[in-house]
Amino acid sequence: MNLNSKVTFLFAAIALGILAMLVAISLYAFRSFSITSSSAHVRTAAEVVRVHLTEAMIQGTIQHREQFLARLMEVQGLSVARVVRSPIVDQQFGAGLVRELPADEIEKAVLASGEPRYELREVNGDTLFRGTIPFVASTEGTPNCLQCHNVPEGAVLGAVTMEMSIADLKERALMTVAGLVAMVALFALLAIALVRRIIRPVGEAARDVEVAVQRALKGDFKSQIAAYPQDEIGQIANDTNRLLSYLDGGLERITQRVVQLTGRNPRQDENKLEATIDMVNSLADAAAFKQAIEEDETKGEIYDRFGRILTERFGITTYSIYEAADGKQMAPMLVDGEAGGACRWCDPQILVRSETCRAKRSGHPVDAIAQPGICYAFRGTPDGGEPRSHYCVPIIQSGSVGSVIQLVVPESDTRRLQEVAPFIHVYVREMAPVLEAKRLTETLRDSSLRDAMTGLNNRRFLEEYVDTLIASARRRQVSLAIMLLDLDYFKVVNDTYGHDAGDTVLKALSGVLKQSVRASDMVIRFGGEEFLIVLQEATVEGAEKVAENIRRSVEQLKIQVAGAVLQKTISIGLAMFPEDSETFWQTVKFADVALYRAKEAGRNRVVRFEAQMWEGHAEAY
Ligand code: GH3
Ligand code: MG
Ligand code: MG
Repeated sequence: MNLNSKVTFLFAAIALGILAMLVAISLYAFRSFSITSSSAHVRTAAEVVRVHLTEAMIQGTIQHREQFLARLMEVQGLSVARVVRSPIVDQQFGAGLVRELPADEIEKAVLASGEPRYELREVNGDTLFRGTIPFVASTEGTPNCLQCHNVPEGAVLGAVTMEMSIADLKERALMTVAGLVAMVALFALLAIALVRRIIRPVGEAARDVEVAVQRALKGDFKSQIAAYPQDEIGQIANDTNRLLSYLDGGLERITQRVVQLTGRNPRQDENKLEATIDMVNSLADAAAFKQAIEEDETKGEIYDRFGRILTERFGITTYSIYEAADGKQMAPMLVDGEAGGACRWCDPQILVRSETCRAKRSGHPVDAIAQPGICYAFRGTPDGGEPRSHYCVPIIQSGSVGSVIQLVVPESDTRRLQEVAPFIHVYVREMAPVLEAKRLTETLRDSSLRDAMTGLNNRRFLEEYVDTLIASARRRQVSLAIMLLDLDYFKVVNDTYGHDAGDTVLKALSGVLKQSVRASDMVIRFGGEEFLIVLQEATVEGAEKVAENIRRSVEQLKIQVAGAVLQKTISIGLAMFPEDSETFWQTVKFADVALYRAKEAGRNRVVRFEAQMWEGHAEAY
């Protein structure tokens, strides 16, 4: 029930109550009035009858009273007019007329009690008032009753009964009440109409406010409230409108900024406020994410953190993160949460020919949800399960694609992916500069530890890495073989064919060295044309074999330089850690001593360090 109906109902109830009370009071008042006035009439008429009868007694014409009593009935408005005699009057004067005998119980009771009796009764639709009044003997007045009547004072001599119709009076009373009711009802109706008119703007404003609040709860603050009365209600409406406009404007500005930052526009049917709160939250989360990855040490940690966000926040458990830093190749960094996992959701071809990855090639997001089958390299059902779709985001670093994030979802989950994709973009955008910075630091660090010409690690790298290397060897209780290698008569190359030819020889030699050892072994450009090799988990025999193998490979290597094909030889000194020395660098020195011996012995050979070689050399170091 709305406010207007409630007020109408209340007023109608009050009006009805007042009407009912008014009718009841009026009817009661009229009844009392009718009875009082009729009683007075009856009493007056009775007095007149008594006076007349007394007069007749004084005049001595009382015996002719019959005619008078008969005429009484002719008085207009009276239906009954009768005089009865008390038995004590009969006792003194003998029996009276027949019609003077008491006609009913009331008259008998009045004669006995001396008290008047009145009653109202309905007869055939007519309302009759009847009064029976006693004539009581009294000494007052002239003549006094006791002059003739031989009775004590206060004795009842007789009674007169009058009955008259008060229908006319009743009808008028009812008419008056009806008029009164009509007037009050009319007044009540006018009052209700007036109140409704006053209250209507309140109701309408309340309804408008309710509609506005309902819409605001759905994130829409565009409602306005009609404010036509210039009173408090109008003021409330105006203030509410100002508040709504303020909220709408504020939300609009926040949403615009957030949309710019997230690239996600709230849908028409979406709660704009909640969508914006979501977006702001994700921006805050992304900022926290950025802060966390800035403090991460390696790119691997960053990818790992991002992978956890994909799973925990966005519910995406199948994805790949590829790094495409190195020209044509791509490497899977994180696949379905597994660091360094195998390429799973793409044709492995992308690893060797990165241009087959559409995101890497184009530098744009690849949305297979909007355009199914857009990328030929995608493998949607590697395990024959539910077909999947993908969404790939390239991460641009230094103007080219540095990494590619590939999100993979079952086809039934694509709609959700579309919804979260803008948020994932926010994370990617936060991640890109941090990855870039990490890559630069790694490259810088790498370049300071690497020889640019041969691509081999340099002496500085060995100095930094040596502690880890020794600790690892000690922990695993294995030996390291250390070889020092030096080209024989290298100066001649420079002198004969020029410095560039010398460089070509050094590069070719580096290639042979790298290929001759395992990936876990280390090849280091130790000085100009001197190299150092550390073999992990080595035995003397094994190391000698590797050294000999290198020596032979170099010997057989034909190097094309400008205008000639060169063949060079190499001398190798070999020492073992910790067999030959407890310290690494001492072992290197021993390898150098062995190398010296190899040169001395005629070059192109491998010499294993022996303790006595050190004697005689010790002072030289
Ligand atoms: P040996 O058999 O005794 O080792 O004779 P060698 O001529 O090789 O003598 P040595 O080892 O002393 O020669 C080192 C030469 O290597 C000196 C230098 O000109 C040359 N060299 C060092 N670094 C480079 C380089 O980066 N490029 C070129 N082209 N030559 C280099
Ligand atoms: Mg040398
Ligand atoms: Mg040399």
